[in-house]
Amino acid sequence: MQSKAAVLWGPHTPWSVEETELDAPRFGEVRVKLAASGLCHSDDHFVKGDIPCGYPIIGGHEGAGVVEEVGPGVKRIKEGDAVVLAFMPACGHCRWCASGKSMLCDYGAIIMDGLPISDQQPRVHARGEGLRQVSMLGTFAPYVVVNEDSCVKVDDDTPLEYAALVGCGVTTGYGAAVKQAKVEPGDTVVVVGTGGVGSSAVQGARIAGAEVIVAVDPFEYRREQAKVVGATHAVASMAEATPLVTELTRGVMADKTILTASLMTGDMLMPLMLLTRKGGRACLTSTANPNITNADVVLADVIFSQKEIVGNVYGGCNPHADIPRILSLYRRGLLKLDELVSKTYALEQVNEGYDDLLNGRIMRGLISYS
Ligand SMILES: [Zn+2]
Ligand SMILES: [Zn+2]
Repeated sequence: MQSKAAVLWGPHTPWSVEETELDAPRFGEVRVKLAASGLCHSDDHFVKGDIPCGYPIIGGHEGAGVVEEVGPGVKRIKEGDAVVLAFMPACGHCRWCASGKSMLCDYGAIIMDGLPISDQQPRVHARGEGLRQVSMLGTFAPYVVVNEDSCVKVDDDTPLEYAALVGCGVTTGYGAAVKQAKVEPGDTVVVVGTGGVGSSAVQGARIAGAEVIVAVDPFEYRREQAKVVGATHAVASMAEATPLVTELTRGVMADKTILTASLMTGDMLMPLMLLTRKGGRACLTSTANPNITNADVVLADVIFSQKEIVGNVYGGCNPHADIPRILSLYRRGLLKLDELVSKTYALEQVNEGYDDLLNGRIMRGLISYS
């Protein structure tokens, strides 16, 4: 069918909205009509060339919509189902899926290729070329053909525009606090970077019972919005956070720290660890260039203060189990999603949306297809 998509033809070029030809779903695949796509910061790293990927590629890996067509061999999903697209598919059978760690599914090894699981042949075409799809999704398009392993079935009456955000940023941030940092009642938590992921980490910390939540962000708008969703304090930098947290904890420092700066560099680790108390835990939730092999840290501080450093994929969440639970928190009013969406855009405004994001004018932007 004819469709359109925002395509990146190479690094250091803008998103280009193109007329596309979308193939019918093949074995194990479905076509989804999307309600919306989130503008996740990670896609901009493909523009900047910070994170390697193949080109040309359709951007976007936060989406939700309704299944319109089902290919042969599809078992769990039927036409008309409401689905959230998971940026990490879950095969259900590998060692990690089978042991309740589907965020580490072996499919993770191929998602950066952006080509279909079954045959690695592009399903979308423009200008006579096959297009890759970010995370095998490519949600900067009103219609996507994706594997059913990327689809999390949700209640039919789910507000799908906001549910799109749960496909990546919200789940990654919420889980950073709840699953990876393991925030406990009474904790003091520092969240560094309060865009879509960080403001979800703030909410995870609030829901888990944190007493003090310090948001750190260079942009005033995001500091104010972080307070709207649960931060008790907000400062512009880790350097500013250090005396504040020292005072708030009488020198003990934070029980849990969560780094959600979009792209982590090696110089960020030392100030983060110095904000973390003895026996505390730091959760690294950023993306990072795979070629970075050095980070500054006071080794004796980490060793003799028994500090923990943990990574984070998808907030340590199992998409099929946790996405419906996170949406349930939203519907009970405990998790705020509407407040995260600062602005809604048409697909043709995708570059404007990223300009707003990079200049701190929004927490999360949403491309609406309705
Ligand atoms: Zn993302
Ligand atoms: Zn798996």
